[in-house]
Amino acid sequence: MANDMYNSFMNAPDEKGRFGDFGGRFVSETLMPLILDLEAEYEKAKTDETFWAEMDHLWKHYVGRPSPLYYADRVTAELGGAKIYYKRDELNHTGAHKINNVLGQILLARRMGKTRIIAETGAGQHGVATATVCAKFGLECIVYMGAHDVERQAPNVFRMKLLGAKVVPVTSGRGTLKDAMNDALRDWVTYVDETFYCIGTAAGPHPYPAMVRDFQSIIGKETKQQMMEQEGRLPDSLIACIGGGSNAIGLFHPFLDDDSVRIIGVEAGGKGVNDDMEHCASLTGGRPGVLHGNRTYLLQDDDGQILEGHSISAGLDYPGIGPEHSWLHEIGRAEYVSVTDTEALDAFQFSCRTEGIIPALEPSHALAHVRKIAGDLPKDHIMVMNMCGRGDKDIFTVARALGWDMDEE
Ligand SMILES: *Cc1c(COP(=O)(O)O)cnc(C)c1O
Repeated sequence: MANDMYNSFMNAPDEKGRFGDFGGRFVSETLMPLILDLEAEYEKAKTDETFWAEMDHLWKHYVGRPSPLYYADRVTAELGGAKIYYKRDELNHTGAHKINNVLGQILLARRMGKTRIIAETGAGQHGVATATVCAKFGLECIVYMGAHDVERQAPNVFRMKLLGAKVVPVTSGRGTLKDAMNDALRDWVTYVDETFYCIGTAAGPHPYPAMVRDFQSIIGKETKQQMMEQEGRLPDSLIACIGGGSNAIGLFHPFLDDDSVRIIGVEAGGKGVNDDMEHCASLTGGRPGVLHGNRTYLLQDDDGQILEGHSISAGLDYPGIGPEHSWLHEIGRAEYVSVTDTEALDAFQFSCRTEGIIPALEPSHALAHVRKIAGDLPKDHIMVMNMCGRGDKDIFTVARALGWDMDEE
């Protein structure tokens, strides 16, 4: 079922960074030389065994990879259909998949002789992962974070500071992730020589979407190998939540050419995917446009103004989606659905009580969709869900949503 443009789904993007009509490199002339320099350096690293040997070493000893592929037997029994596995990336150092990608980009920055690392962050998870790896390598770290998010995510701000990073509150726009990313891009062109911009999801101008995907593909590669060892065959379906789409594309990519594997991405449906835009479902509720250097599906109004959207989970709160997902959606290789705040909250509690695993609110969206479809699938259907983050960061949000009084014993 490979697309005419490519021999394999895995060969995209083309040399201009396009996934079909999506992706590309919509950047100012001042940014172009930096992007080309990065691309050249990444192309070299990609085929350099010493680069991947260092990655493997750090993944194993610093992050704790491979993460287990865990048969969730009680969830399976409870749902009464498909056999459910969790890919347990919530066990990584720093509690989510973000560090898989940060390590790759920081090793690249070191090869390029860069001493100053900048990053954007929304909920703070990517900021914490970047601050962590910068501390480990003794690099200066500056994290742009919307002023509104700085207030909402105080524990992560404190963690970044403990790790030695400087957190810059961004007051432009609405003071959220989109604005933080704009300011980071501005910083990059101002301090060109010493700066490396470490992007936290599979978005941005080429080569970022492909590069972030390649680093996150460790999730899918391990899953494939573990599945062969544990079940002796490929899974029948894969499910992951989508903010910008990096954990999802990391799981999906190694399976794109395996026609028998059904692929499902789950977006944040917030209060429901409707005209009020109180959701973050860019694919299921948005339209194509250009943001942060690439063409993709976005939340926008009739004038093309980017909308903020809403989700109970801060990590899914991005008004766009990585361009590769837009392409996989248009050619029909992957399906995209959405799940509401309420459904995600229910799934969060379900995982806590049936498996003793407190999930982040982001993968709780994926689990909510698993709950919708697993019961109708045969018992020999094997489904892998990416448990991409742990929920410790979310306990206060959940307590508030459930109306629990946190001062009460
Ligand atoms: C950041 C984050 C996400 C969303 O980002 P993607 O690029 O879509 O993966 C999802 N889950 C967790 C736990 C996160 O920290």
